[in-house]
Amino acid sequence: MTDWVIDMPSRARVAVEGGGFFPVRRIYCVGQNYAKHIAEMGGSLDPKDRKPPFFFQKPSDAVFTGDKMPYPTITKNLHHEAELVLAIGKGGNDIQTADALSHVYGLAVGLDMTRRDRQAEMKAQGRSWEIAKAFDNAAPISNILAVSDVHSALEEGQIALAVNGSVRQSAPLSDMIWSPAEIIAELSTHYTLMPGDLIFTGTPEGVGPVVVGDMIEVSATGLPVLMLKII
Ligand code: MN
Repeated sequence: MTDWVIDMPSRARVAVEGGGFFPVRRIYCVGQNYAKHIAEMGGSLDPKDRKPPFFFQKPSDAVFTGDKMPYPTITKNLHHEAELVLAIGKGGNDIQTADALSHVYGLAVGLDMTRRDRQAEMKAQGRSWEIAKAFDNAAPISNILAVSDVHSALEEGQIALAVNGSVRQSAPLSDMIWSPAEIIAELSTHYTLMPGDLIFTGTPEGVGPVVVGDMIEVSATGLPVLMLKII
């Protein structure tokens, strides 16, 4: 018996390849981590001026592991953003870049689903665009692959997204402006990282809308595939 005054909400979880579940604590996302995506969103990047990555969050229960994602409310322009996801197994503050990958339990692919129309409205008004990013089911994710040598797993990796069989996003993971290790190091100066945190590492160019009936497939070299239908 416990003293909870209502039923304890269930904890978000993601299945691990080979068995077991990864409990989700927080979902961090990186914005603008691929130069060509910055360009397609109307920004520009001077390669000599490498701005620190910026971060936002989605609620932990935004993880979606089903195969049929309901089209969300209050948008007419739902966009896909295919992203490599880091699953943190060991927490810390002020983590050094050289040590950072030892904090990773495993890897997955995910979708930073975005209400692009709402994001544009909020940007134009100078308001927070949380409503564009942090809605129900906004973070579809594949199974997690436990990885002992993360550096090798990421080397020469490629991430890709197809809608109804047509490739829309395809880029080497080495196109990331901030590497997974650098992201972990920087993020751990903003927040105390904890086991159970997920980090969506940003999307390459080629983001675009999906509609009801579309089948989305996200893959990255050596990682479990994410497939879902928008209903
Ligand atoms: Mn994103």
